[in-house]
Amino acid sequence: MQTMNWMEKELERLADVSLERSLRADRRVPGFPGYTARGERRLLNMSSNDYLGLSQHPAILEAMREALLTEGAGSGASRHVTGNLLPYGRLEEALADWQNCEAALVFANGYMANSGVINALVSRGDAVFSDQLNHASIVDGIVLSRAEHARYRHNDMEHLRSLLNKYRDKRRKLIVTDAVFSMDGDQAPLRELIALKREYGAMLMVDEAHSGGIYGRRGEGLCHELGLLNDVDIHMGTFSKSFGLYGAYICGSRTLIRWLVNKARPLIYSTALPPSLIAGISKALSLVQEEHWRRQRLHAASQLFRSSLRDDGFHIGTGNSPIVPLIVGDNDRALQFSEALEVEGIAAVAIRPPTVPDSTARIRFSLSTAHTDKELADAVLLIRNVGLQLGVLSP
Ligand code: PMP
Repeated sequence: MQTMNWMEKELERLADVSLERSLRADRRVPGFPGYTARGERRLLNMSSNDYLGLSQHPAILEAMREALLTEGAGSGASRHVTGNLLPYGRLEEALADWQNCEAALVFANGYMANSGVINALVSRGDAVFSDQLNHASIVDGIVLSRAEHARYRHNDMEHLRSLLNKYRDKRRKLIVTDAVFSMDGDQAPLRELIALKREYGAMLMVDEAHSGGIYGRRGEGLCHELGLLNDVDIHMGTFSKSFGLYGAYICGSRTLIRWLVNKARPLIYSTALPPSLIAGISKALSLVQEEHWRRQRLHAASQLFRSSLRDDGFHIGTGNSPIVPLIVGDNDRALQFSEALEVEGIAAVAIRPPTVPDSTARIRFSLSTAHTDKELADAVLLIRNVGLQLGVLSP
């Protein structure tokens, strides 16, 4: 159809610069999330966000099976209609208790939580100060809200301060940041953000998608680990990563949660999550708190893997989390790197713009409790060989 020709042209342009994306099918194999399979090939899975390996936990599966059989498949309506089954409230109480805050609210996923919450907090005449590397769901929430989007350079507090000065007369001000950045694995300077939020009378929202379950004594997240939770106004986390499931939460004051129940459109206009999922999340919440060994194992593995790649001479950024970016730069070379790793038996995706800034295409390795030291040591050798082959490392 003539009216759709533009699409093919644009797709061709994307393909020419190695930026077209296509979906590949993975197959579950025993050992997931440590392993995945494409076609007949079993691959070491270094691209899952199932950091604690909980997606296969028998106690979670059992809780979900039981709820499925007793409550049925779907919740049938939004929470404001008849979908707000009792386990929802119980989970939210447990979340508030875990996070040591007044109240909590479950959202369908992290994307809806971020976009819906930001849109509920600010509007035209307000300003949102957002790190340049924040997740796309935060950016979309800001666009949706029609507030001024004041993007500051990654973790650059002087730049943030200059923007806070520029927009100091805006009605409401919201500073928002990932706690651990999803494509770089580094941390936000939370103490400095809190100092600035106080100085300028701004609200602070922190996305703990990649730090919940991983930091803090009971896996509460980075804010807890640093003892800063009381200074964060809107604390967001997901169940889609460390929890091994799906969904998200917001924690904060009773007033915040009351506001969101009234104003967050994804909560109001979308069907409640299925009861079996709520049951699985509730079980995962206990396991995240109790099974400390998963966090300890993950941190030890991340440290070893990072230092090995760094010693080999790779550029892997400054983080210390289970997300390890191997920066290649060129889009095409990043794709070749990922393909060569697959030939060697490793699934590790190439991440290209617009997900990351231009000229910073990379392989994003994410580690899991499920990986053994031996598997990671073997992976390091293979990565090194591919690096040498492709000229990313010099001999
Ligand atoms: N925030 C961050 C920092 C993320 O990395 C992601 C997921 N990639 C999300 C939010 C969205 O979470 P979900 O996958 O649950 O929609």
